[in-house]
Amino acid sequence: MIGVITITTLVHQNNGSTEDSRRGQIIEAAIDTIAELGYVGTTLAQIAARGGVSAPLISHYFQDKNGLMEAVFRKLVQRVARGVVVRQGRAQTPRARIQAVIDANLAPEEFDSRTGIAWLAFWGQVIHVPQFRRVQVVYQSRILSNLRHALRPLVPAHEVAETAAMIAAMIDGVWLRATLSDWSETNSDSARLMVSHLVDMALAAAQGKMQILQRATGQVQKNFINGGFVNAAGGETFETRNPATGAVLSTVEIAGAPEIEQAVAAARAGQRIWARMTGAQRGRVLNEAARLLRAKNGELALLETLDTGKPIQETSVVDVASGADCLEYFAGIASGLAGEQVDLGPAAFGYTRREPLGIVAGIGAWNYPLQIACWKAAPALACGNAMIFKPAEMTPLTALRLAEIFKEAGLPDGVFNVVQGFAATGRMLTQHPGIHKISLTGEVGTGRAVMADAAASLKHVTLELGGKSPLLVFEDADLDNAVSGALLANFYSAGEVCSNGTRVFVHEQVRDEFLRRLKLRTEAMRVGDPLDPATQVGALISPAHMNKVLSYIEAGKAEGATLVTGGARALAGALAQGCFVEPTIFADCHDEMKIVREEIFGPVMCVLSFRDEDEAVARANATRFGLSAGVFTQDLTRAHRVIANLEAGTCWINHFNVTPIELPFGGVKQSGLGRENGKAAIEHYTQIKSVYVALEKIDAPY
Ligand code: NDP
Repeated sequence: MIGVITITTLVHQNNGSTEDSRRGQIIEAAIDTIAELGYVGTTLAQIAARGGVSAPLISHYFQDKNGLMEAVFRKLVQRVARGVVVRQGRAQTPRARIQAVIDANLAPEEFDSRTGIAWLAFWGQVIHVPQFRRVQVVYQSRILSNLRHALRPLVPAHEVAETAAMIAAMIDGVWLRATLSDWSETNSDSARLMVSHLVDMALAAAQGKMQILQRATGQVQKNFINGGFVNAAGGETFETRNPATGAVLSTVEIAGAPEIEQAVAAARAGQRIWARMTGAQRGRVLNEAARLLRAKNGELALLETLDTGKPIQETSVVDVASGADCLEYFAGIASGLAGEQVDLGPAAFGYTRREPLGIVAGIGAWNYPLQIACWKAAPALACGNAMIFKPAEMTPLTALRLAEIFKEAGLPDGVFNVVQGFAATGRMLTQHPGIHKISLTGEVGTGRAVMADAAASLKHVTLELGGKSPLLVFEDADLDNAVSGALLANFYSAGEVCSNGTRVFVHEQVRDEFLRRLKLRTEAMRVGDPLDPATQVGALISPAHMNKVLSYIEAGKAEGATLVTGGARALAGALAQGCFVEPTIFADCHDEMKIVREEIFGPVMCVLSFRDEDEAVARANATRFGLSAGVFTQDLTRAHRVIANLEAGTCWINHFNVTPIELPFGGVKQSGLGRENGKAAIEHYTQIKSVYVALEKIDAPY
């Protein structure tokens, strides 16, 4: 009691600055004590002795040990915060503001062992002491908000938070390692250099993305003809939108007749030069294009996600990579293209030349825009053809970037051109007498129209069309594996995949358990912002397409199928602005139902059950489509027998929807004509010239 009175008197007698300095003295003594004895060993009595003050005075100022320690922690945090403010005050650029955060946190004074041990002591206690936790939260969020603010002009908006967290983690990690290694691995200078270097690398990658985004979305997109962008004479344009938000991404000029003529003339001239190059030379250019695609994977994936609504977690590992794989594969094949020599007896021999067709028009669908452009361009170019590519009007952006990449890789002007527009532009290509082949990816009806147009001038056609593919799960299948297959076969790219196995036939013995596991895993899937790396199901391509998918879901309900999960538009929060549909599963489906017969091209799976193999195969084949099929069984003999009996161009045993470039891809029945990928594609992009070589004089009867 006496002590308290004494202290109160003392405090009243002294002005604020004396109190501040006494507090400061106690805090410094506390840091010294912690540095020597550790957090647990430190007591108020030891601090008092070291600071030359009485223990009751400490209690008066700070109440108890935690109170004093909180003040010590605050002091450490404030010192860093002040360091940031002072340095940022001098910083002229956003990058310099980031550097200010790095420099303040990794300043020499944070690297002395006294301060280091104190920081470590607090970090060790933060989890247990709510007072410290609050200080730590403020400290961390202040660093993050400083970084986020500085990063905004430097990285794409959706990467700001992640990049800020990454830089903060690098700072903490480097500091922690230095402290734990007793400063033997790094000091303040090298730590700052290290983090700055990593930040520069991250920002360089982000810068590329910012540039491509600005170029790809901020201005009017023109047609790419003869190695450059050209103005369209007609002045007509269309808008491309981000289906996840509805926002306009870009305005695109439509190619009319003059641009098509220009493209054909450029392709004709370019093709002559290109075809005269050796296969190895052509291969080199394609390899370089593949390298550039990979180097720009981040920005191209971002652009594809914005244009298609597909999750960034897909586009960043599949779309660009598959395009690059395809270019590499056909780059390798280019130098090996050869005809054959035929022995015709002593008087002659023959040989064949494998020659390009000339000009190929590629017409793409909107679900895999860049991948489709590469899958068509790679074999066509490897074989010495030129290409005029028309993307689907809903996804016109990445093909233009591919054209730039080809040019940068050394492709002669005119060999790869991009014309933009709707079906009318496509028809100008399919009807043009100067074009020798059409390679289309699209719907069955479009395939028919294209083939009819192509017939007038007897063009070659490759048609990659729609499907309603079966996936058969036998009673001996590894069920978890089969569920994985069914999910991949239906919900990848929100179901907008031509080869999807949307008719899932499950043996009746395992049907209930299959459905139980399927429902659980489907409901755990994350529908969301396609730019969020955690999102697994993104947006559908357009409001019109979403409504079509929703109308199929309503038809399924009306026809009496049992809705297992999903069945509606996803509308939570910002999703309401976009075209999101919940992954949907119908059970108790019958072969006659509309949802079982027609291609929906959305996240809608139909589960049907069967009793025996013959029945399953017959029902799987009872469709006009024949793009793909899958079988899940552990019985090797049955797997091959069933596959042999399924009417489909591309099949999987114990997997679904994997499409390595080395394997030909394509459909039978109304799912298509011809093949993409694999050596088989060469047949569809070359023609054979037979040459007879006489070795003796002609024996003429005249
Ligand atoms: P569409 O058939 O509607 O369009 C495909 C392309 O053809 C578009 O670029 C379109 O232009 C163009 N086009 C349309 N009509 C004509 C015409 N008469 N002459 C020339 N060109 C024309 O398909 P979607 O873009 O809607 O794609 C979805 C379809 O594609 C689904 O059926 C799917 O199964 C199929 N697909 C098949 C694949 C396969 O490899 N088998 C792979 C991916 C998809 P615009 O869009 O500008 O009108």
